[in-house]
Amino acid sequence: MVPMTLAPDNPFARPSDLPYGLPDYDAVRVEHYEPALRAGLAEQRAELDAIAGETDPPTVANTLDALERSGRLLRRAALPFFNQLSADANDALEDLHERLAADLAAHRDAIYQDARLRARLVGLRDRAEAGEVTLEPDQAWLLRTWLKDFRRAGIDLSTSDQEALRDLNARLTELSAAFSRRLLAGEKASAVLATDPDELAGLTDDELAGAAQAATEAGHEGAWLVGLQLPTRQDVVGSLDHRATRRRVQQASETRGSHGDDHDTRGVLLEIARLRAERARLLGYPHHAAYVAEDATAGSAEAVAGMLGRLAPAAVANARTEGAALREVLHRTDPGAELCAADWAYLAGRVRGDEHAPDDAALRPYLELERVVQHGVLEAAHRLYGLSFVERHDLTGYHPDTRIFEVFDAPEPGRPDHGLGLFVADWYTRPVKRGGAWMNTLVDQNRLLGERPVVVNNLNIVKPAPGRPTLLGRDQVRTLFHEFGHALHGLLSDVRYPSQSGTSVPRDFVEFPSQVNEMWAWDPQILRSYAVHHVTGEPLPPEWIDHLTAERQDGEGFATTEYLGAALLDQAWHRLAPHEVPTDVEDVATFEAAALAAAGLDDVPVPPRYRSTYFNHVWGSGYAAAYYSYIWSEVLDADTVRWYRERGGLTRENGEEFRRRLLARGGSQDPLASFRDLRGRDAEIGPLLARRGLGTVSS
Ligand SMILES: [Zn+2]
Repeated sequence: MVPMTLAPDNPFARPSDLPYGLPDYDAVRVEHYEPALRAGLAEQRAELDAIAGETDPPTVANTLDALERSGRLLRRAALPFFNQLSADANDALEDLHERLAADLAAHRDAIYQDARLRARLVGLRDRAEAGEVTLEPDQAWLLRTWLKDFRRAGIDLSTSDQEALRDLNARLTELSAAFSRRLLAGEKASAVLATDPDELAGLTDDELAGAAQAATEAGHEGAWLVGLQLPTRQDVVGSLDHRATRRRVQQASETRGSHGDDHDTRGVLLEIARLRAERARLLGYPHHAAYVAEDATAGSAEAVAGMLGRLAPAAVANARTEGAALREVLHRTDPGAELCAADWAYLAGRVRGDEHAPDDAALRPYLELERVVQHGVLEAAHRLYGLSFVERHDLTGYHPDTRIFEVFDAPEPGRPDHGLGLFVADWYTRPVKRGGAWMNTLVDQNRLLGERPVVVNNLNIVKPAPGRPTLLGRDQVRTLFHEFGHALHGLLSDVRYPSQSGTSVPRDFVEFPSQVNEMWAWDPQILRSYAVHHVTGEPLPPEWIDHLTAERQDGEGFATTEYLGAALLDQAWHRLAPHEVPTDVEDVATFEAAALAAAGLDDVPVPPRYRSTYFNHVWGSGYAAAYYSYIWSEVLDADTVRWYRERGGLTRENGEEFRRRLLARGGSQDPLASFRDLRGRDAEIGPLLARRGLGTVSS
């Protein structure tokens, strides 16, 4: 072992003594991360060296188990580090990330380019095939995964090509960090300032108060500042009566990252696209999309293109029909005006109003955060899986806004300790938080090391003024259930190996359980349980319940089209050969327009959910060439929703089946085998088409 240089008073030096190994946030300071991460890298390198240098014949214990035991210190520091970087960043953390990014990439390369290590795994496979070693199914799957990862990381390349690959990986890691950082800074700079309250007519008093406070904090006392959210569609645009303000917000949203200033992301994204194409070429793939799809359940970029291409025309046709109805409403007040993206959500709200259905403003008083969580999200998990939740006020999170719940399994006779793990909730937005919503883990469940899970959910809900309740819109309720679906995947994981824990499944599978969990948001029993007026205690009017729980396709044309726009853009950028990637930043918009036109998506005023310049999923995070995953997962999701309905919906028996056959398995076997085990057959696309009103798609 290399000498351990980590100071013993560093809180990451030893496993935390706190329940479930929660990091000791009372003690953790930003300056603890770098030494812990560097010591973790050194420790794992030494551990792997020992495994590679082993002279006894390879066994499960001295290869697979040993590999999976390695890197404990690194994981202990890295999981909290990346969580904090996403949820509560500051300059010191961002600097450290940029400084460390290349070292982390080099560390990964050093593992996967170590021929001795691979030889041990090949030796184990040979011994298993010869019947000298017996592998359990999860061990056979693990061995297969490790060997595949070695091949995909370039183990078979020449020494000089491996060196080129290492340089590409290091540079790509730096560029992704730079993209996220510019985007976050640019988002703050793109907020829209209003000086006249009339411009903001339509916002609620709370929203106005929030905008006034944001303006004051930014040094514009007496004005109002409307911040931007990560997707293209900005929620406020749906309620702003003033058309010019709507268009200003929309314009600010769509031009993020392309102003030619310090926050311009175009040069960064072009370099990322080119280097990814070069790396794919080096590894023997035609382009990055082919490299990514091979490791996913989709299998090939052609399969992805086929699926997106089938859906696009039907989605656009639906959006066109929706647009025609909106244009009619627009022309009542603005004869002859051209329908634009900024009008869409606003007018859709008016159309719904015409049908006596509740809009978000009417619903909000019934959707109070605490009640939605306790009597909705957690209640559904209780009824399905028998889980219960107790808030642990004695434990400290990484930010004062975090809340920590201990999760208990249904009690069983003879098993006194039924603690499952911890759920950390971080729902409120902060200027230093990344946009969107996501799940992280601080500890991954695994039996090898006897670790129980600690999972985090992050959202970006605007915090109300002190003493005011947090009232949610429909999308926020859906997001709470969605992210908690990921949390359940982590909490209910029951696997042996850390690398197979919970959500360690392919990208185009991981959104499936979280999307399934969204169904409980609109389940009549659960909805009645949480949707109660926060002042009067009155239940939601029955006709609204009917409206919310009915399968509806309102707005699906827009939603599917904007989603497909982003997914197709992602594929288009990643299906290029190196020399095909534009070199001039001005060509980003041209390339984007051509890609959308080629898919027929330029026919309606529905911008992609993310434009290239602020598409953090694909440039700054792990979804490159994989944004299609959401709709790919939705095929499984819609088919599973049908499975639940066929079997009586919200019952303990159904939850137990879903847990045992799917959630608990994590990445310990082929995920599609888990699905087949649950459903009794492969997934069918019909339920997705029906849900999204795409019945006319040819199959
Ligand atoms: Zn998700």
